[in-house]
Amino acid sequence: MKIVLLSFFLGLTLWADAHIFVYHRFGDSRYPSTNTTISELKKEFDYFKTNGYKVVSLNRLVKALKDGKTIPDKWVVLTIDDNFRSFYDNAFELFKKYHYPFSLFVYIEATQKRYPDYLNWKQLKKIAKYGSLEFHSYAHPHMTHMSNEDLKKDFQQGLEIFEKKLNIKPKYFTYPYGEYNNRVKKIAKSFGFDAIVNQNMGAVGTKSDLFDLDRCALVGKTNLKYLLKLKHLNATWIKPTSFPKNSILTTLHVKVDENAKKGGLYISGNGWREIDFKNKEINLKLNKKLTNGRNRVIISIGDKISTKLLIKDTKWN
Ligand SMILES: [Zn+2]
Repeated sequence: MKIVLLSFFLGLTLWADAHIFVYHRFGDSRYPSTNTTISELKKEFDYFKTNGYKVVSLNRLVKALKDGKTIPDKWVVLTIDDNFRSFYDNAFELFKKYHYPFSLFVYIEATQKRYPDYLNWKQLKKIAKYGSLEFHSYAHPHMTHMSNEDLKKDFQQGLEIFEKKLNIKPKYFTYPYGEYNNRVKKIAKSFGFDAIVNQNMGAVGTKSDLFDLDRCALVGKTNLKYLLKLKHLNATWIKPTSFPKNSILTTLHVKVDENAKKGGLYISGNGWREIDFKNKEINLKLNKKLTNGRNRVIISIGDKISTKLLIKDTKWN
């Protein structure tokens, strides 16, 4: 009986979509909240290896999504935001040793102006032989705080230097601080990237939006096993789709691809609560004041989750 139950339980929990992870600094104890220690990194790499996870390139995942293929449940994609020296000094060898592909998202100004702690062009070129280099803005700004014009300038300036210095046209983009809204996303998309990855906890399934791929952070204290269990919830967000007027969230209207009766709702500053679905839909009246400039609304059904990031579009609308 125990075995039957156990295999039933494992059967459920081992099924998951692909997962994209993001790292920042490695073996750099000065910044614990954005750092991954080398022993932790090794533990994670060993966990992937011994538990049958296949670390694939972002290219391979995006191609599978574009081709409409089923996404294998044990694919893992590794990304690194910011071109910190600590990657090159402390972690690069380990990535090479495990033959794990990776995508490193470059903050151009830091390398261009030789900020301490950041990689130089020569080191980036060396890295490009083993992983892909991608775009992470010119000046690493809070993009929702910028006018359309300034935002476009940042992309133009950054991409021009990227292509000139590295002789590569980047295919993917990540938002500085993971901050975006519909306006910023539209401008980012207009620069012709093949995909955009966000920084919202979740997984990637066949129906994921190529320009809004969820990505989990593996920095500071994390629970890798928990993150690997997450699945993508196919959800259509009718409301909210943007930061609400007067900061008050009044309606939650979401359609889901699941026949569940119960689920969870998380709103930043309010924690989790149980919610009821009716005919694959939730339509709730709320009166929640959003107290932060950056808020997450998350819907969950079992291990499946869908996140809506609501960032105040400061000054510009
Ligand atoms: Zn960054």
